[in-house]
Amino acid sequence: MYDLIVIGGGPAGLTATIYAIRKRLNVLMVSKDLGGKTQYKLSLPWIQDYQVIRGLEIVNKFKSELEYLDFARHMEAVEKVTRDGADFIVHTAGGGELKTKAVIIATGTKQLRMKVPGEKEFMMKGLCYSALSYAPLFIDRTTVVIGDRELALRSAAELATIAEKVYVVCPVKNLPDSEMCHKLEAAGNVTVLKDHSVVEVKGDEFARTLILKEPGGALKELAADAFFVEMALIPNSQMVAGLVDLDEEGRIKVDCSARSSVPGIFAAGDVASGFAEQVLIAVGEGAKAALSAYDYLLPRL
Ligand SMILES: Cc1cc2nc3c(=O)[nH]c(=O)nc-3n(C[C@H](O)[C@H](O)[C@H](O)COP(=O)(O)OP(=O)(O)OC[C@H]3O[C@@H](n4cnc5c(N)ncnc54)[C@H](O)[C@@H]3O)c2cc1C
Repeated sequence: MYDLIVIGGGPAGLTATIYAIRKRLNVLMVSKDLGGKTQYKLSLPWIQDYQVIRGLEIVNKFKSELEYLDFARHMEAVEKVTRDGADFIVHTAGGGELKTKAVIIATGTKQLRMKVPGEKEFMMKGLCYSALSYAPLFIDRTTVVIGDRELALRSAAELATIAEKVYVVCPVKNLPDSEMCHKLEAAGNVTVLKDHSVVEVKGDEFARTLILKEPGGALKELAADAFFVEMALIPNSQMVAGLVDLDEEGRIKVDCSARSSVPGIFAAGDVASGFAEQVLIAVGEGAKAALSAYDYLLPRL
């Protein structure tokens, strides 16, 4: 029986695990990888490393420690978490059952992909999934945002304050009647291409153009300096769906101490209902979840 199982090895899960080790809990991190989405880095000729806040120093430090402490990690996907009285069972993809007194879910999100030719090839080479991280670097550039939901509209609005030109490519005929949409429609440097879909991404070393399908079915090319796929972030929360409360986007609802609706289950990072998907936020939330779980466990240790 573990005191604590941390699910996920990204910034939130790594930090939570190291905090739990320092507190001398009997902790196990179960994850598909170490590092999570910190492996992504947008490459473009004019982007210098120092211009982007990546938070890698602390993440890499914790990652190296866990690479060394092999007793504290188990590399496998988790399928489900179930209750076992006051405790929990973590069910792994290979059929393993790990018993624990408390759980921290730190499984992040996955980006909805376009699934078109060229997307994989140019991923992070001019084609990116996090305008939140990179938008300020596009001064006087031409940019494209793909998507029609809040995430895309917010990304386009931020880029519109910096870039020379922003195209929004969206499959829908009408955008919602929101303040963000009114801002975009009023901005002189934004063109919304409604009822358009992306058919292909083309380029050389970097993505250079999108092939778009127009409402009538004709194809056209759209060139830009960068392309942001902002269709949706899907929280990896299925393993506790039905067990804890999720918000309307599927993120695990947490209070300001990282507690979910079920005592003993905590959540941190992008999978939790906090604000903004960033490495340093996930690191902070991971630390908080571990300390909160420690306080929950203290009477039971
Ligand atoms: C393209 C891109 C670029 C970005 N650039 C930046 C940047 O420059 N700066 C910045 O601050 N932020 C950036 N971000 C955001 C940042 O990467 C995330 O906010 C951060 O990684 C979230 O950390 P996390 O630990 O919550 O989740 P993640 O990093 O997503 O880690 C989730 C972990 O859970 C594991 N996992 C998932 N499902 C399961 C399962 N079923 N079983 C077991 N393990 C599972 C994964 O393998 C992974 O280890 C970027 C995001 C993207 C997509």
